[in-house]
Amino acid sequence: MTLRWQSVARAAGLASPDGSARPTIFAEMTALATQYDAANLGQGFPDSDGPEWIRQAAANAIHSGANQYPPGRGIPALREAIAAHQARHYGITVDPGTEVLVTAGATEAIAAAVLALCGPGDEVVSLEPFYDAHAAAIAMAGATHVTVPLVPGAGGFRLDAATLETAVTANTRVILVNTPHNPTGTVLSRDELEAIAAAAVRVDAVVVTDEVYEHLTFDGLAHTPLASLPGMAARTLTISSAGKTFSLTGWKIGWITGPAPLIDAVATIKQFLTYSGGAPFQPAIARALTEGDADIRELRDSLTHRRDLLSSALADIGFEVGRPGGTYFVCADATPFLSAEVPDGAAFARALPAGAGVACVPVSAFCREGSTTARDLANWVRFTFVKDEATLREAIRRLRRALTQGSPQNSD
Ligand code: GLN
Repeated sequence: MTLRWQSVARAAGLASPDGSARPTIFAEMTALATQYDAANLGQGFPDSDGPEWIRQAAANAIHSGANQYPPGRGIPALREAIAAHQARHYGITVDPGTEVLVTAGATEAIAAAVLALCGPGDEVVSLEPFYDAHAAAIAMAGATHVTVPLVPGAGGFRLDAATLETAVTANTRVILVNTPHNPTGTVLSRDELEAIAAAAVRVDAVVVTDEVYEHLTFDGLAHTPLASLPGMAARTLTISSAGKTFSLTGWKIGWITGPAPLIDAVATIKQFLTYSGGAPFQPAIARALTEGDADIRELRDSLTHRRDLLSSALADIGFEVGRPGGTYFVCADATPFLSAEVPDGAAFARALPAGAGVACVPVSAFCREGSTTARDLANWVRFTFVKDEATLREAIRRLRRALTQGSPQNSD
C-alpha cells in the first residue's frame, strides 16, 4: 500500500529507495556534522541568538501571563506591527484586522496557503531549485508541481523567463515565488518580478511569495515584494517571518498578508493546523518589528562581511561561486573536486564532514529528481555563512587543507 506521506516525502526529495522515512537534508547534514565534529555550514541557522532585548521581552511576557492560546489570527499588537512594517518598508497597505494572519513560522503559512488554494488537478509553478517545504506543501495538497529554472551565470542565478511563459498555463492556480531565494541567494530583479506578475495576470493565478530573507540583502540590493507591483496586491499573498530577520529561528513566528478573502481562506486551514501558537513570542516580535531597525542593519552588515569572507575563500580554493545578493547562503560548483568515488554534489556533501570536517548541503536536494535543473546543478553545493567568524575561518582552513595541496593555510 502506498500511503500519502510517501508521495509527500518523494516530492520533497525525501524518498529512500526502500520507501522508508528519511530526515530532511538539513537534519541529515547536521547529524553528520555532529558525528564528525564538523563546522556546520549545512543547515541554515545562526550560531548566536538574536538581540538580548527581544529575548528579554519574551521572558517578560512569560512572567506577565502571556501563556494561554493567543487569538487565532495573532495578537492585535503583532498584527498592527506587521501592517506598519509593510507600510514603512514597502508602501504596502494592509488592514491588521482582516488582511494579516500570524502563523507558526513561514512554513505553516506556505502550507496553509497552498492547501487553501490548490487541490488535485491544479498546478503550482515555483522556481527550481526550491526550498523543500514548498514541494511538500504542493504534494500535501495533491496538486502538481511545475518548475521554472534559475540558471547560473555571470549575474548569479537568474530566472529563465522563456520557460516561465510556457510553465504558466490555464491550469496554474498559484505561482509560488521565493525572493531573496534559498538556496541560490538570488534577489529577483524588477524585470523578473514583472515577468512573474504578467504571467499571473495572464492566467488569473494567485501569487504566493516567501520573503523570509527580505531584510538580508547585500550590496545595496533592495528586496521588492511582488505585492508592491502595480495591480498585484489584489492577487498576492506575502509570507515572511521573524526567524531570519532577528536570528530567532526557533521561535517560529511567521505571518501572511494579502486581500481579506484570501486571508480568510488561509486562516480557515491554519486554524486546523496549529490553531495558534507562540503566545509570549508574539508581543516580543511586535516590539522587534517596531523598534528593531538598528538590529536588522547590524545583522545585514555583518552578514555581508561573512558572505564576502566565505565566497572569496571558496573561489580561491577552486569552486565556481554564485555570488548571492541576499540570504544566508552561497552556492558553489564542486566540479573540480569530484572523482569516480565522489561523482556529484550529493556525494561530495555526504563525504565532506568526514573528509574535511565541514558540512554543506547538495543543491540537488532542492530540485525535482530527474529534472533538467537537477542535472544542471548536480555538482553544486550550498554553504551557509550565518555562522560566527571563527567558525567560518576554521571551516575555510579545513576546506583549504582537504581540497588543495600546498596552499598557504592562513590566507583566507
Ligand atoms: N531554512 C533552513 C535552511 O534552508 C533549514 C530549516 C530546516 O531544517 N527545515 O537551511
